[in-house]
Amino acid sequence: MRAVEALIRWEHPERGLVSPVQFVPVAEQNGLIVELGAWILQTACARLGAWRAELGDRAPEQVSVNVSARQLARPDFAAGVAETLAVTGLPAGCLTIEVTETAVFEGGQAVTALHELRALGVRIALDDFGTGHSSLGLLQTVPVDTLKVDKSFVDRITEAGRHAVIAEALIQVSAGLGLTAVAEGVETAEQAAALYRLGYRLLQGYHYGRPVADPDFDLVRATVAAGGLKITPPAG
Ligand code: MN
Repeated sequence: MRAVEALIRWEHPERGLVSPVQFVPVAEQNGLIVELGAWILQTACARLGAWRAELGDRAPEQVSVNVSARQLARPDFAAGVAETLAVTGLPAGCLTIEVTETAVFEGGQAVTALHELRALGVRIALDDFGTGHSSLGLLQTVPVDTLKVDKSFVDRITEAGRHAVIAEALIQVSAGLGLTAVAEGVETAEQAAALYRLGYRLLQGYHYGRPVADPDFDLVRATVAAGGLKITPPAG
């Protein structure tokens, strides 16, 4: 087990659990995503710091935080991240910022922000890769460490035919460019095994654990072990 991803949920006093599909787009429209995103970043960094202190080697090495185009477009974004790392005491190398291709496709301040984050030592992941403004040229012009291969390329990977072709191509692109590849949305042991055969070593999804407020990392490890998969860190 290598990393966790921060996912926002809203427990509303009257409406119950509100799906992020409902409230995140609204926050993006009205601009509240900037404050909400800052809170998520702060909370995620503080929690990983607490897990590291409490669990030592049994804590995840990394936390991934999703960042919207609107946050990334603000000139003070990277400075805010630096401040959050300083306040929480989390080493920069423990944080991955996830952005979509579409958020950085047009260059400008968003790409400047990624260079600034990189200079801090923060890792950068392209999220939902292959579904946005997909441009392989982007991989050479923006600083990227990790490709998160979209669930849509994982869903039917065990079926006969052409379903595995894109996942297979993307692991080769990742390896060739020295990037880390993560397969998203893995739901079954069969999908995990098929991805492993293609060369994927980092997988995430319901097969390993559902989003929870208080993850049990030992249980996740046990699940991986029970799946019979040998998950080994990539060389280097
Ligand atoms: Mn993500």
